Amino acid sequence: MLLLAGQPNLPSRQRSELGVNLTATWYNGDTTMKAKLNIHGVTLEGFAQGGVQTSIFVPEARAMFDVGVDIGAPVDDIFVTHGHPDHIGALHSVVARRITRKNSPAPGKTLKPLRIHVPAGIAQGVSAALSAMDGVFGDRHRPVYEVVAHVPGGAPIDMGHHIHIEPVHTFHGVASCGWVVKRLVKKLKPEFAHLSGKEIGDLARAGHEVGISQWATELVVPGDTMIDFLIRSPEAQQTKVLLHEVTFWDDKSSVEKCRAFGHTHVDEMIEHCEKFCGAALVLVHRSMRYTRQECEAIVKRRFPAAMLPKIHMFDDGQLCKSAATMI
Ligand SMILES: [Zn+2]
Ligand SMILES: [Zn+2]
Repeated sequence: MLLLAGQPNLPSRQRSELGVNLTATWYNGDTTMKAKLNIHGVTLEGFAQGGVQTSIFVPEARAMFDVGVDIGAPVDDIFVTHGHPDHIGALHSVVARRITRKNSPAPGKTLKPLRIHVPAGIAQGVSAALSAMDGVFGDRHRPVYEVVAHVPGGAPIDMGHHIHIEPVHTFHGVASCGWVVKRLVKKLKPEFAHLSGKEIGDLARAGHEVGISQWATELVVPGDTMIDFLIRSPEAQQTKVLLHEVTFWDDKSSVEKCRAFGHTHVDEMIEHCEKFCGAALVLVHRSMRYTRQECEAIVKRRFPAAMLPKIHMFDDGQLCKSAATMI
């Protein structure tokens, strides 16, 4: 008999041990199970559970970051941070659903190939794995996807609507890259900063160009990384919203052991979080050995008080709230 993790008819004791995470995997696509957080104009939907599953849909960028579980996000672009299973394990499932949609398109619509953006170091392996599944699927309507290799610092991806996404270097010990989401915004030219709104309006109506276009960093998604990313990356420190992992939250896993696995320990985040100058520092990728309540209590008790209004947690289907309202 084929056994599936998280199947609904498991005995009740076993079901409670499996907990919400595997249940959520079974019910993927069920929006009631996903975490949701809207912060400073950036919406996050999905999961970021260390070692289990990370898939984060950002509708404003029409992008999904990592694909550890298929959450049914309506995107043409997936941005993979690295090849660990909790970040890429559901890729074949998303491609399979794409084939189904391509075979039955909405009236008058043609489906673009799914663009799968990956670090260059895993591009060949990802292509080979998907090609193998193509043979298994036996579909005649390929290609439904294309694998696009990126290197940190490489060319930005134009997402349309004045949004670019750029690959950035991260620190995880395997081939990896984080993703920087930038939006082209119009700002007032510095020489007009001292003027009133009416005076600026008068100048604009008289034909003067009062604004200047600039790329503003809205969101940075590094995926798994050591704290070095926050310490060394200007994008991490200055973005409006930063999703930074904190995988280990107590002394049972030392900082040294945590770094050996390429992750961030809560002690390191407490020491360095004040380097973040943006609006929201969202802590993700908590190891499932800790409960949300335990981690919220640690944030309240140990993080610098001045940082609490900026700190949020995003991991599973529980209510996401700011540190200011944590237990
Ligand atoms: Zn991970
Ligand atoms: Zn990883």
